[in-house]
Amino acid sequence: MTHSLDAVAGRVYRRGEPGYEQARTDAVWNARTPARYPAVIVAAATEEDVVTAVNYAREQGLPVSVRSGGHSWYGIQLREGALLIDLSFMNKMDIDPHRRTAAVESGVVGTDLHHAVRAHGLFFPVGHGPDVGVAGFLLGGGYGWNSRQYGPACFSILAVDVVTATGERLHCDEDQHRDFLWAARGGGHGQFAVVTRFHLRLREQPGAILRSTQVYPARRAGEVARWMMTLGPSLDQRVEFVAMVTRPPLPGYPEAAMTVSATAFADSELEGRRLLAGFERSPLAGQELLHVRCDQTNLDELGAEVDRETPKGLRYVCDNIWTHAAAGQITPLIQQAADTMPNPECQVFWYFWGRDHTPPHAAWSSQAPWYYAVYGIGPDPDLDAAHDAWVARSIRAAAPLSSGTQFADADLAGRFDAPLQAAALAEMTRLRARHDPAGVFCGYPGGEGRP
Ligand SMILES: Cc1cc2nc3c(=O)[nH]c(=O)nc-3n(C[C@H](O)[C@H](O)[C@H](O)COP(=O)(O)OP(=O)(O)OC[C@H]3O[C@@H](n4cnc5c(N)ncnc54)[C@H](O)[C@@H]3O)c2cc1C
Repeated sequence: MTHSLDAVAGRVYRRGEPGYEQARTDAVWNARTPARYPAVIVAAATEEDVVTAVNYAREQGLPVSVRSGGHSWYGIQLREGALLIDLSFMNKMDIDPHRRTAAVESGVVGTDLHHAVRAHGLFFPVGHGPDVGVAGFLLGGGYGWNSRQYGPACFSILAVDVVTATGERLHCDEDQHRDFLWAARGGGHGQFAVVTRFHLRLREQPGAILRSTQVYPARRAGEVARWMMTLGPSLDQRVEFVAMVTRPPLPGYPEAAMTVSATAFADSELEGRRLLAGFERSPLAGQELLHVRCDQTNLDELGAEVDRETPKGLRYVCDNIWTHAAAGQITPLIQQAADTMPNPECQVFWYFWGRDHTPPHAAWSSQAPWYYAVYGIGPDPDLDAAHDAWVARSIRAAAPLSSGTQFADADLAGRFDAPLQAAALAEMTRLRARHDPAGVFCGYPGGEGRP
């Protein structure tokens, strides 16, 4: 049977036709839109549209790429000559407060899921950026709000609905079609199906969210990171502990500074204060540019802060490692990255993940206590080369300390390490060969023979 895109209820944009370039650039959140051009973009309105698009692409020999929230920093959804399925218009949610589950279409973004479940007194560890797509976030592992307690968000996937390489619609859970569930739980951007819907386990809304923040001059970044490495392991799992060298939230302070914050997801305000007590006893007390103690907050305020730090419309490049490194090895590199930052809008990011989490049936496998990432950020294309060089230099210097990279913040092409452990990567390859032998879906960027 020959398939045509005429049956698509959503929109179809072919290269060279009106609307195509807008649809192409809209598919990437980062203003550094890659110069890669899909042959056709299908903005799906229904699961049936996804089936039609996959069948058409297979027949025409067009590799399939997928866009959900469009937040991949590297715009990996844009593949040369591919058929891009845009799921961002498929954003229905169905919350079951009694079972504490949500069925979420792949076009849903984190803030909308948060608001929908909060209305029922429930919680999901959505990504820090409010508009990050739930789909790419979950597939990449998902390090969201309060994820230290619940594990990466992909652990909360109960089931997925997918469209396979043959255009079949499957519901995949622990009992049936488990390979697709395994891959969706942290297998990243090399899926061998389109996930159209996630079935998620929800948690109870925390009774109180409290945040404390300390800001130090950037020249102290290494010192602060060293203190964090001493303190981190003693903090409760419900405390999120992160530092960032960038322009601080201090009016009239134009330089970069090290902002370190601890956010507690507690049962009550009193308990939150107790969880943050260790953080308040900083050995660097007296040297802060700012110290805000135990402010009550919520995910909307926290998300707005992330939006201020990483606004849409700027040009981003980033890279990262997970690491087990000792303080003496990594903190001089953090200081060096801070000292050589091209402009104060850039970021050096240092994040405590902590203990090993026991994965369920999941591809997710990279584990290390600390996460180090650098982001070149600016409005001006003329800065791109300096940002690229700084990011590459900073991460190359840390390469010997890497325990693996993270899907979310890396361009996997030419990468010196992997986002999954070797056994999980080998399993992804084996499952791809089994479920997508003809190579209908684009695999990992730069991997498995795809553009
Ligand atoms: C401002 C900002 C903040 C961020 N904060 C966090 C954070 O706190 N924690 C974190 O872990 N990450 C974070 N990220 C990274 C983010 O999780 C990843 O970029 C993720 O891929 C975004 O999901 P998306 O649906 O928007 O991605 P998209 O760009 O739409 O998709 C990325 C890739 O995922 C695959 N994919 C997406 N949807 C599907 C699908 N339905 N079926 C099959 N494959 C699919 C495709 O290969 C696609 O190319 C952040 C990114 C940004 C830009």
